[in-house]
Amino acid sequence: MTVPTVKLNSGYEIPQLGFGVFLVPPHEAEKAVTEALEVGYRHIDTAAIYKNEEGVGAAIAKSGIARDELFITTKLWNDRQAGEEPHSAIRESLDKLQLDYVDLYLTHWPTPEKDTYSNAWQKLIEIRDAGLSRSIGVSNHLPEHLDRLVADTGVVPAVDQIELHPAYQQQNVIDWGRATGMRIESWGPLGQGKYPLFENPAVAAAAEAHGVSPAQAVLRWHLQRGIIVFPKSVNRSRIEENFDVFGFELTAAEVDAITAIDPQDGSGRVGSHPLEFN
Ligand code: NAD
Repeated sequence: MTVPTVKLNSGYEIPQLGFGVFLVPPHEAEKAVTEALEVGYRHIDTAAIYKNEEGVGAAIAKSGIARDELFITTKLWNDRQAGEEPHSAIRESLDKLQLDYVDLYLTHWPTPEKDTYSNAWQKLIEIRDAGLSRSIGVSNHLPEHLDRLVADTGVVPAVDQIELHPAYQQQNVIDWGRATGMRIESWGPLGQGKYPLFENPAVAAAAEAHGVSPAQAVLRWHLQRGIIVFPKSVNRSRIEENFDVFGFELTAAEVDAITAIDPQDGSGRVGSHPLEFN
């Protein structure tokens, strides 16, 4: 099965569906990523703070899959944004991943109280120019942070990876991306299993109409809205299920009904708020 790709502002293409490894313990990461690669995933989303880059790297090395068929993302953790630290951090990540470059390197959170996210962005530009990451972007940045990065450097991130699922859609960040050509990646695409999404009548009805699971209906909702997703599971049958989302299409009415789930008051958020995470 060929996963559609989305073109980034760097000119590189990213597979719209990938595999995320947040909270996958280091010793399980190699097995989970090996299974994902067997199933057909070619886009893996990890981060230095997940402490599982070695396992991801081992799975990639053993897979024998050509490097240019893979799309690997990792992220700079918050305590390494200052000074020249990002340069050391990317080299450590590349060593662990056993790679010469990553496809996408992100600053993980703006942590606005520290006020080092703009410095981190300038270092990511240097890291891209040095060939250590093909594309660069950010995560958990709000429009005010994105405006600051562009004002300081003139460089628009290729992506912003934000908490995004039917109950928490952050339309203001999506709008910022539309206006500037920045792509949106969803983290927690299934609400991390913390929000009762699968029981929601709009999700359940769409799933039933197409003979798919509620998780597949939600993933399809993201894909049809142009969002990049990388659901996480360490369960082989769910890894397969989450990849099997290209054989059906939600109707416009089903997409709209799922879009209407967002309570619009922020109460659907399951993770930290970028202004409060420091
Ligand atoms: P997710 O929405 O993908 O939820 C994962 C959970 O959903 C699993 O633990 C499992 O319990 C459940 N699940 C998965 N597939 C299912 C299925 N088919 N049916 C029923 N339940 C299923 O949440 P996530 O893992 O937090 O997000 C995906 C990825 O996003 C992460 O692995 C990570 O790569 C990234 N992420 C990034 C940030 C960030 O700050 N940038 C934060 C969290 C996650």
